[in-house]
Amino acid sequence: MKIAVLGGDGYCGWATALHLSARGHAVAIIDNFARRQWDHELGAQTLTPIRPLAERLRVWQALTGNTIEQFVGDVTDYEFLSSAIQELEPEAVIHFAEQRAAPYSMIDRKHAVFTQVNNVVGTLNLLFAIREFVPDCHLVKLGTMGEYGTPNIDIEEGYIKIEHNGRSDVLPFPKQPGSFYHLSKVHDSHNIMFTCKIWGLRATDLNQGVVYGTVTDEVALDETLINRFDYDEIFGTVLNRFCVQAAIGHPLTLYGKGGQTRGFLDIRDTVRCIEIACLNPAARGECRVFNQFTEQFSVLEIARMVESAAKKLGMAVEVKYLPDPRVEAEEHYYNAKHSKLVDLGLEPHFLSRSLLDSLMNIALKYRDRVDASLIYPRVNWRSSSNELRRKENAPSISPRSEPQFQNAGVADRKAERVQIPATRAKKVQVEYNKA
Ligand code: NAD
Repeated sequence: MKIAVLGGDGYCGWATALHLSARGHAVAIIDNFARRQWDHELGAQTLTPIRPLAERLRVWQALTGNTIEQFVGDVTDYEFLSSAIQELEPEAVIHFAEQRAAPYSMIDRKHAVFTQVNNVVGTLNLLFAIREFVPDCHLVKLGTMGEYGTPNIDIEEGYIKIEHNGRSDVLPFPKQPGSFYHLSKVHDSHNIMFTCKIWGLRATDLNQGVVYGTVTDEVALDETLINRFDYDEIFGTVLNRFCVQAAIGHPLTLYGKGGQTRGFLDIRDTVRCIEIACLNPAARGECRVFNQFTEQFSVLEIARMVESAAKKLGMAVEVKYLPDPRVEAEEHYYNAKHSKLVDLGLEPHFLSRSLLDSLMNIALKYRDRVDASLIYPRVNWRSSSNELRRKENAPSISPRSEPQFQNAGVADRKAERVQIPATRAKKVQVEYNKA
């Protein structure tokens, strides 16, 4: 299958592109490296030393003989995106290419506007490009479980049957997003649903839980293929953050009471869920929603698991309760359905002691790269403008200036394939344990 992976240089996208390429699909990555720029802006870096995309792809080709093409550009630039889609003629497009950190979207007005323009315009451009040039293509879009919020009823997979005044209908499940980022995902979902209805597009909206882990079979083939591992308070997801905190002897930073309960999944299941969605496309006109997670835990439960795994490795770890910088329920009912991907063949990797050990071993291996000043929360939801320590050093290119937002979609650049010359690379098994 010809598959375009938008955001293929990122955490989920990189692992997914390799997974699909390893299974014989013709994969192309579209990315503008914005994620790497946000690290520069925040003065942060991934725990793991990720290599430039071109180098990663050369090594992948040398190891496997599989070529992954790369198109470097911004999906909010319609001329670029539409020319890439015309050239590739994909049968499936996987759309990861968004700003995905809730705290980043809550820094101030500029970051909120950037997040919503980047995400909503990028997805709108993609919907128009599919409609114009590949109307039969299956859109696989990454949404988030955070779109639903934490209602006091069970969360269904996208739709709920409602009875009202003696009549009933199946309607989109109510959304109660908790940040400007989560709101951008809700806006995307509405736009996708609308275009499936009016143009007969086919789409799968994957409401993904919090992803943890960094190693997949493909990434483990060579150190050059190593995936990113974010631990900072802005981009780090909670389990990855806690493992790094434990590994450097830092207290685990628990927000509020820790009763915030969320769906979680291993990155090895992320890549498999995407593959399953591609192999079982939605019908024309169908906007299908799957809840993509395998287990649910409270943040306190996650902290306790990390604490006990760290103790067994001989590390003393304390849990530090901090005032919750977010506006969210600190204790609540949570029961979200997640059976549709399992029905299609997903065999989940559940969170295990060995995986926690492996994550902590990675954190220990790269602990010299940890900047402990990035651990405590600096973005408070209650404030409309948050000062970040390194703000004065922020490059002007990120987030983009507002005139560029206004021009989104009218740039005149065409997409060009980036040629990756093959090089010889040794097949070196990475040192760290495969989970
Ligand atoms: P990431 O930030 O690591 O990767 C996103 C990639 O998209 C980056 O490589 C970035 O450069 C690229 N990108 C962003 N805007 C772009 C643009 N305008 N044009 C071209 N490329 C652009 O994020 P991730 O963790 O891999 O998440 C991928 C998707 O999955 C996101 O949509 C996110 O909302 C969703 N998701 C992630 C998680 C998680 O735990 N990581 C959980 C739920 C949902």
